[in-house]
Amino acid sequence: MTPITIAKGDGIGPEIMDATLKILNYVKAPLKYEEISIGKQQYLAGNTSGIAPESWQTILNNKILLKAPITTPQGSGYKSLNVTLRKTLNLFANVRPCKSFHPYVRTKHPEMDVVIIRENEEDLYAGIEHRQTDEVEQCLKLITRPGCEKISRYAFEYAKSNNRKRVTCFTKDNIMKQTDGLFHKVFNEVAEDYPEIESDNMIVDIGTAKLAERPEDFDVIVAPNLYGDIISDVTAQISGSVGLCGTSNISEKCAMFEAIHGSAPDIAGQGIANPSGLIMASVHMLNHIGYGDIAQKIENTLLKTLEDGYHTKDIYQDKLSKKLVNTGEFAEEICKNL
Ligand code: NAD
Repeated sequence: MTPITIAKGDGIGPEIMDATLKILNYVKAPLKYEEISIGKQQYLAGNTSGIAPESWQTILNNKILLKAPITTPQGSGYKSLNVTLRKTLNLFANVRPCKSFHPYVRTKHPEMDVVIIRENEEDLYAGIEHRQTDEVEQCLKLITRPGCEKISRYAFEYAKSNNRKRVTCFTKDNIMKQTDGLFHKVFNEVAEDYPEIESDNMIVDIGTAKLAERPEDFDVIVAPNLYGDIISDVTAQISGSVGLCGTSNISEKCAMFEAIHGSAPDIAGQGIANPSGLIMASVHMLNHIGYGDIAQKIENTLLKTLEDGYHTKDIYQDKLSKKLVNTGEFAEEICKNL
C-alpha cells in the first residue's frame, strides 16, 4: 500500500474527489489515504498558510498529494494556498497535457495533443507586491537563471521520454528584455543539449493566438508561471471543457496532482461538475508512483465512458451525447466499465 495524502478542497472539490476515490477504490488501487483539511477553516483557526502544521507533516511524510480545487479570495484576503503549496514544496514544474477526445467530446480541434509545462515557483506569482504610494501598487517579476534552467531542462527531458518532437518557448522578451529575456536565453542554451528535439520561440501574445486557432500545430510548450497558467486554461477549454484535464506539480522530493480548473463556485453543491480533470490527475499520480497498469485501465475506461456518450453538463451535446449524467453517475458508469 502506498500512502498518499488527499485534500478535498471546497466548491466542487469534495464532489469530484468523492467521484475519483470511488473509482480508485473500485479498481483496488493499492493506496492508503490520509485526508487533511486545508483552506478557509484552517486559516480562520489561526494557521496563516491555510494548512495546519500536522498536515504539512503528513504531506511531507507521504510525498504524494492528490488535491481537489480550493477557492482563493480575489483582490484581498489570504494568500493562495495553491501557490503556497507549490512554493513550499518546491514543485517547480507544472505539467498540463491537453488532448482532444474527438469525436466523443465536441471540439473544433480534433487533432490537438499539446502539453503545457509551466514554471511553477517564480515570475509574478512569487507574490512580492507592495504599495509604493497611495496611488501606485507594485508587483515584482522574479526570474532566476537556476529556475529557467530547471524548467527548460524538465521540458526537454519530458519531450524526450514522451516521444515528443518539439518544444516551444513562450515569452514576451521584446518588452521584458531582462526577465523574459533570461528565460528565452536559458531555454536556447538548454536546447543545445537536445539536438534531436526541435525548439523554437514565440512571443506569448501571437503564440497564444496561434495556439487558440491551431493547437494541433504545437507539441510541448514551456512558459513562465503566469503565461503558463493562462494558456493551459485556454488549451483545456478548447479541447472540450476546462473540466477534462489533470495536472502534475513536480519537485525532486514530492508531487501534487490536481485538476486544471478551480473550485467552480457557480456550480458547487449541484452535483453536476465533470470529475474527469481530477480523475486524470489520479491517472498521472498512479503513473508517477509506478502503477502504470492501473493508470492505463482507468484512463481507457474514462475514454470508453466518454465514447459511450455518458456526458456531464459541460460537454453534453444533443446529437453526440447518449445520456446527461451527474458527477456521481459519471463515476458509477466508469466503475461499471472497469
Ligand atoms: P474555475 O475553473 O473554478 O471555473 C471557471 C468556469 O469553468 C466556471 O464556469 C465553472 O463552472 C467551469 N468549470 C470549472 N471546472 C468545472 C468542472 N469540473 N466541470 C464543469 N464545469 C467546470 O475558475 P474561477 O471561477 O476563475 O475560479 C474559482 C476559484 O477557484 C477561485 O477562487 C480561484 O482562485 C480558484 N482556483 C483554484 C485552483 C486550484 O485549486 N488549483 C485553480 C484555479 C482556480
